Amino acid sequence: TPSRSSVIIVGAGISGIAAAKILVENGVEDIVILEATDRIGGRMRKEAFGGVTVELGANWIMGVGGKVPNPVWELAAKSSLRTCLSDYSNVRYNIYGRSGKMFPSELAADSYTKAVDSALEKLRNQQGTDGGRRDFSRATEPPSSPKTPLEQAIDFVLHDIEMREVLPIPTFLDYGEQEYLVADERGYEELVHKLARDFLSIASEGEILDSRLQLNKVVRKIQHSRSGVTITTEDGSVYDANYAILSVSIGVLQSDLISFQPSMPRWKMEAIGKVGVTVYTKIYLKFPYKFWPCGPEKEFFIYAHERRGYYAFWQHMENAHPGSNILVVTLTNEESNRVENQPDEETLKEAMEILRDMFGPNIPNATDILVSRWWNDRFQRCSYSNYPITSNHQVVQSIKAPVGHIFFTGEHTSEKFSGYVHGGYLAGIDTSKALLEEMWKEKEGKAVRLTQV
Ligand code: FAD
Repeated sequence: TPSRSSVIIVGAGISGIAAAKILVENGVEDIVILEATDRIGGRMRKEAFGGVTVELGANWIMGVGGKVPNPVWELAAKSSLRTCLSDYSNVRYNIYGRSGKMFPSELAADSYTKAVDSALEKLRNQQGTDGGRRDFSRATEPPSSPKTPLEQAIDFVLHDIEMREVLPIPTFLDYGEQEYLVADERGYEELVHKLARDFLSIASEGEILDSRLQLNKVVRKIQHSRSGVTITTEDGSVYDANYAILSVSIGVLQSDLISFQPSMPRWKMEAIGKVGVTVYTKIYLKFPYKFWPCGPEKEFFIYAHERRGYYAFWQHMENAHPGSNILVVTLTNEESNRVENQPDEETLKEAMEILRDMFGPNIPNATDILVSRWWNDRFQRCSYSNYPITSNHQVVQSIKAPVGHIFFTGEHTSEKFSGYVHGGYLAGIDTSKALLEEMWKEKEGKAVRLTQV
């Protein structure tokens, strides 16, 4: 018979690890963390590429420099994480058309202003309806759809990449307008490792060696009742606990990877079904030498193709990793799905064609390519949640509400900061506080106030 622990945490991303840490620090030490993959960090994931460390998932600390300190910025400071300030303000002046032609800056800036106005109008029209998404341009056809490649490109950047000129985003209102790119050899995931090392046993080389962290354990079945939960993993292991905290992504909740007995109530399933997902694909390309303009105002550039979002958003890595000769292009949603499902050689060919359009036929071929695949990852099925703008509150409340002894956490359970690292982190802390309250209530038969953790 399996031994029974107090709490099982499913998933070892930043939310699951933050949740576990709060429990242990509050005296609930008999926990088990079940993680499907062979590593912790989840969507914070580094990869060696072209002689440097790049990020396949989260890359920026978003929201820095405001009145309230971003808790992730504070974690980064504690770990002396190497970061570089990103400046998007010039991206509108770096728009390439075919044959290397850059759009004149006045024209580009003018189009940008028009696009912001039209997006604001679209938003006003949509308020009170249910269909709006953060990238709402795709949810309903705008009255004046962008037509020219320049308009398409600006529309893409505005809606799929940078929304803050259109929407008041709590992250930037609370924490400030700045964004810092993480460029550290240990990766953004070092923050998760640091949190884990704070409460799990480590071997001499700093490696986590604690039987409470179980890697390669894919949770497939959760049986639950008033007396607790029984969790079965793909390899047939069975775990018993009083409570479970589920931190898997909204994409996983929408898939059939985990079955529940009894099944989740209808209100829960409906809420889960309502949340949209955004897919981001980063394509890193390594070159023998640089052929693009460098410098801080040139870090981001756009290619204006007649097909919306087609290899549109580019970044050079020279600020983060001088001399690395690496470019990264970000695709989203439909383009992401398409590229994730084709061989990388095909993607390389497509990207080179675009680069030759921008920089001429004589540029060298990329010598290496790295493509992230979050959509096809059965332990993710998305990059992050994308809530309807207008009916956010009720849906998030339902998504995070416990069902019996199963509690929910993860970036998608954060009302203010869904989609971000700090959203996942704060959600983990919140969920554990709520669970501790419940455990203490149950134990003592009365509410106990949780002192500030
Ligand atoms: P996760 O990190 O996904 O953790 C969930 C864990 O559950 C994973 O480790 C997974 O393997 C595990 N799991 C899944 N299924 C099972 C199962 N059945 N059994 C056991 N374990 C399971 N945020 C920012 O702030 N800035 C950015 O620049 C940024 N860019 C991003 C770019 C990309 C491409 C992506 C993908 C995300 C980006 N994000 C960014 C979002 C950010 O990465 C997430 O919000 C955050 O990391 C989510 O943490 P989490 O703990 O909620 O989920």
